[in-house]
Amino acid sequence: RTVYVNGDYVPENEAVISIFDRGFLMADGVYEVTSVLGGKLIDFEGHAARLERSLSELDMPHPCTKDEMLEIHRELVRLNGIEEGLVYLQVTRGSDGDRDFVFPDRETTKPTIVLFTQSKPGLADNPAAKRGTKVISIDDIRWGRRDIKTVQLLYPSMGKMMAKAAGADDAWMIEDGAVTEGTSNNAYIVKDGKIVTRGLSSDILHGITRAAVLRFAREAQMEVEERAFTIEEAKAAEEAFSTSASAFVMPVVEIDGVPLGDGTPGPVARRLREIYLDESLKTAI
Ligand code: PLP
Repeated sequence: RTVYVNGDYVPENEAVISIFDRGFLMADGVYEVTSVLGGKLIDFEGHAARLERSLSELDMPHPCTKDEMLEIHRELVRLNGIEEGLVYLQVTRGSDGDRDFVFPDRETTKPTIVLFTQSKPGLADNPAAKRGTKVISIDDIRWGRRDIKTVQLLYPSMGKMMAKAAGADDAWMIEDGAVTEGTSNNAYIVKDGKIVTRGLSSDILHGITRAAVLRFAREAQMEVEERAFTIEEAKAAEEAFSTSASAFVMPVVEIDGVPLGDGTPGPVARRLREIYLDESLKTAI
């Protein structure tokens, strides 16, 4: 596999980053994951805009322009022959060769930028989407700026392990009695035919897939309600699902061992997945 590191396309085993990099020492970095379908990038504009926002919220310099970023994404997809899969991009604050809580000088310390691809044949035709997924609920004990897409993924990773240990696929996190989001996705329920999902704030990541799915749902005259919901409400819902760039729209058929409806993916989730895949392919670049 060819990867990209600070301006160079290199074989993955030749990529080198300093052990003093703040991404490594302090999780001082942000990332984006963009999916590839038919060799094209899905919603690149959305991911580029969110990266821009994450960087500015953390006062981190931009490593390159949006056009350069697009070029790097496309070149890696081409070099690695990715038809279906993902492009992972990470920017960290870099290092000035020391370890210090204080940020290094912005003018003299260059950010580190890394990109690599992951080939995922069958990403769109995922059997899990037909089967539906099971989630458990866990406490949301993450920091308070979940709207910034940082590489601090230890708790979400632990959440996945808790789900796995419980025989489930994922965990939905709960704060003050309400669901915030999944470990790596936004969470939704369907109630009285309405799509319900938590509104945007610093409590959740502003999902690029969320934005697209809600837009497509409204265009298809489906009702959308942006508000917090409890896990009890979710367990009693007609349907549930999650969204993310890497899994698109994923039906949820069981929460904390309680099956939803007849325990199979519901019509709203199935329809939204279909619409999302159709529509987002039209604007893929
Ligand atoms: N919420 C969290 C915590 C995530 O990690 C992710 C994706 O990685 C999402 C939501 C979904 O965001 P997107 O649709 O932009 O992939």
